[in-house]
Amino acid sequence: MNKEEVVAKLLPVLEGKGPGDIISIASQELGDRLMMTTAFGYSGIVLLSFVKDVAPNLPIYFIDTGFHFEETLKLRLKIMAEWNINIQRLASTRFKKDLDEILGREAYRTNPDLCCYHRKVEPLLNLMKEDTVWLSATRRDQSPTRVGTSVIEIDGRGQIKISPLFNWTSDDCWTYIRKYDLPYNPLHDQYYPSIGCYPCTNPVDEGGTERSGRWTGIDKIECGLHVPLNPDSSND
Ligand code: SF4
Repeated sequence: MNKEEVVAKLLPVLEGKGPGDIISIASQELGDRLMMTTAFGYSGIVLLSFVKDVAPNLPIYFIDTGFHFEETLKLRLKIMAEWNINIQRLASTRFKKDLDEILGREAYRTNPDLCCYHRKVEPLLNLMKEDTVWLSATRRDQSPTRVGTSVIEIDGRGQIKISPLFNWTSDDCWTYIRKYDLPYNPLHDQYYPSIGCYPCTNPVDEGGTERSGRWTGIDKIECGLHVPLNPDSSND
């Protein structure tokens, strides 16, 4: 089956199902083609909690840019230990000094798109094969760039992507986290609704949007990992 046929087959099956069923069906249908990435944001925690219950052997990756908050790194270790799941570290294959040479030491400020490409996107592209199916915690209400997210779609890079939380709201996720007392990044309690690399993540003032603390002050709200099919509707 080509990608279009996979999406056409699975879309009616997955539509209307809850995250646990979506992950379970996708795992049975797609086998080792399915993988997940997470940066341990709160929706990622919700998705991980379903994965640990219904597909505990799913390959899970954390893209380590070298700029993550200490709180994020500690959360990965805590979840792996307490939930008995393996979350593999994925990083640029280049040595840090080579990256600094290519990008400049403060590329997150001078050329954040290039910095994101080499530190986030390239490691992911090196991992994914043509037929890899990406399980993501993307939600429609995260940003204007994500409102078109579907439960299963072919993204702008030609990769099949499954988003079991596509129609969950921020409140839905937090209700679930509180109900099941899930661990989460303590920075969320310090006005960081979205958490990425520390040079590019700020707390958000009251009235700010979920991703307004990311790359504050410049015209950038996506790192380039998630590429929508329609570039006009979207630009992690
Ligand atoms: S979020 Fe900032 S520090 Fe992290 S890879 Fe992108 S530009 Fe670089």
